[in-house]
Amino acid sequence: MQIGFIGLGSMGSAMAINLVKAGHDVRAWNRSKVAQDSVPGVTLVEFAADAFQADAVFTMLSDDAVIREVVLDAGLLASAPGLTHIVTSTISVAFARELELLHEEAGLGYVSAPVLGRPNVAARGQLNILAAGKANAVAAIEPLLAPLSKKVWKLGENPARANAAKLACNMMIAMAIEAMAEGVVLTESVGLERADFFELILGTLFSGRAYESYSAQITERSFEPGFKAKLALKDMRLATEASNEIGRTLPMLEAVREGLDQAVLAGFGEKDWSIMADMTVRGGDSMASSETNSETNQ
Ligand code: NAP
Repeated sequence: MQIGFIGLGSMGSAMAINLVKAGHDVRAWNRSKVAQDSVPGVTLVEFAADAFQADAVFTMLSDDAVIREVVLDAGLLASAPGLTHIVTSTISVAFARELELLHEEAGLGYVSAPVLGRPNVAARGQLNILAAGKANAVAAIEPLLAPLSKKVWKLGENPARANAAKLACNMMIAMAIEAMAEGVVLTESVGLERADFFELILGTLFSGRAYESYSAQITERSFEPGFKAKLALKDMRLATEASNEIGRTLPMLEAVREGLDQAVLAGFGEKDWSIMADMTVRGGDSMASSETNSETNQ
């Protein structure tokens, strides 16, 4: 099967490599120049339109606006009738609906397939993929998702379901990060080491994956992405839009969105989103500030 791939960022490059390893012919485009040896076996093409000359094309671009610019505004949907487009980015529910309609009008298959898992998980081909779209479109591309994933969660024929589920997952991880940080504020104030507090909560009430993974980052104060705070803020905004669309305001969502907004405003947009926990623990500042300052002073 001839596969196109658009967007060789942290996630996309790992996914494209795994498609090659699975024996597929992958033609990929990225806005910035990508070194061939960073994506072995992937054929790099000059234009996004070249990646659309395929049986199926993945897009793993940052957000709605970039997909609109690279795919819709460039008229790519008209260039490849019969192709199935798999959008693995985290995008808005409203944009997923628009994409579904536009692909149907252009005679293309469309599958929303946002993913759970960070770049290291993508590199191991162990993502959880949330897939939704017309049954025949999902069936056609399912073999392509296998080398990328631990499990494909099929969420039905309405693509927006996958996007709403993905936004809900990220919203809940952000809430878990903030919850742990606020727990640390209370417990460190009486001298309890954060590692000991996390051992307690992981061994009793909160043994889930999000708590496990982000408690380690909060303990180590390690903020290399991972998942960039600026992209996490984008997702909280998309979750807010989705809740506003149904006339609801979600107070915990508002709080974590504000926390990420502060982190990005403080200049930490390129750091991991768990930087938000550090800012809460330190009352609005972050360890990363002193790191940045000492780097600048050298
Ligand atoms: P990333 O490393 O920042 O990559 C973003 C990609 O979008 C790059 O290929 C970038 O090209 C491209 N891009 C950005 N602006 C563009 C523009 N104006 N025109 C053309 N291309 C543009 O981000 P990522 O971490 O791979 O995330 C990609 C998507 O996956 C996002 O929707 C994110 O929310 C989602 N996601 C991320 C994670 C994670 O842990 N990282 C996990 C699950 C889902 P350049 O190389 O030229 O900048």
